[in-house]
Amino acid sequence: MPELPEVEITARLLDQAVAGAKVESAMAPGLNVMKSFKPPLDGLAGDRIDGIRRRGKMLVIDFSSGLSLLIHLMSAGTLQLHGKRAGPKDRTSRVLIRLEPDQGGERELRLREFGTRQRAWAKLMPADEIETDEDVAKLGPEAWPDPVPVGVVTTTDRPLYSLLRDQRTIAGIGRTWVDEILWSARLSPFKRAADLEPEEAERLLASIHDRFQAAIDFYESGLTLPLPDKLPKPLEVHGREGEACSRCGELIHAVHYSDYTLCYCPREQTGGEPLKDRRLSRLLK
Ligand SMILES: [Zn+2]
Repeated sequence: MPELPEVEITARLLDQAVAGAKVESAMAPGLNVMKSFKPPLDGLAGDRIDGIRRRGKMLVIDFSSGLSLLIHLMSAGTLQLHGKRAGPKDRTSRVLIRLEPDQGGERELRLREFGTRQRAWAKLMPADEIETDEDVAKLGPEAWPDPVPVGVVTTTDRPLYSLLRDQRTIAGIGRTWVDEILWSARLSPFKRAADLEPEEAERLLASIHDRFQAAIDFYESGLTLPLPDKLPKPLEVHGREGEACSRCGELIHAVHYSDYTLCYCPREQTGGEPLKDRRLSRLLK
């Protein structure tokens, strides 16, 4: 699932590769992918890409005509640059933006989505409407690069695990990085934000910034185009149930929900107490 660091590196690498490129054609083979109909996507033919940037967990492709394409990858989407056109039988393509050939090679920006569900979406609109678009306007402050103001997290009594993933509170954190951030800050996922000591709140905000900065540095030093379908992520705790915590050696525990898993270190985050496994407790009811 692409979150802030993954979307940021995608935007940077693609921007370096395609800024200035002229669009040959644009189309949406994904039947439900376009959430806007005017202006039409195929009207981008002949336009030029000014740049590609990130907003929250979304991507924005800016064109010289003054239009921008806002893209949400959701849980299984990816935006890639391909050296060959997608074949007619390719079922993963949602949006195809064909670019004028570069040094003789074909180039195609491809919004792809894996799995059976089609949830990734895109909207084409004037660039100056991006910030007032309903999906952008509701975003809280960006989790990175500027530090999140402390009041954003301490003025509510919601549990940290759901609060941090709420894009209206802070933009950019999802189910992977929330585990990492809470582990770095040594805080329980279910601690209520209003109960944070000032020193804990500082640690949490520093963890958000530092983990994202480190992840972006990691991707920046290791990734080049073409981006792999699955990025290798520098994770310490998420997806590592049963492995030893790299700081204290305790086994990492998990709470399983129907379609995702929360991972944490019980010794350092929950006072040595394992959290109730929701899957088990449901079965035992
Ligand atoms: Zn530990």
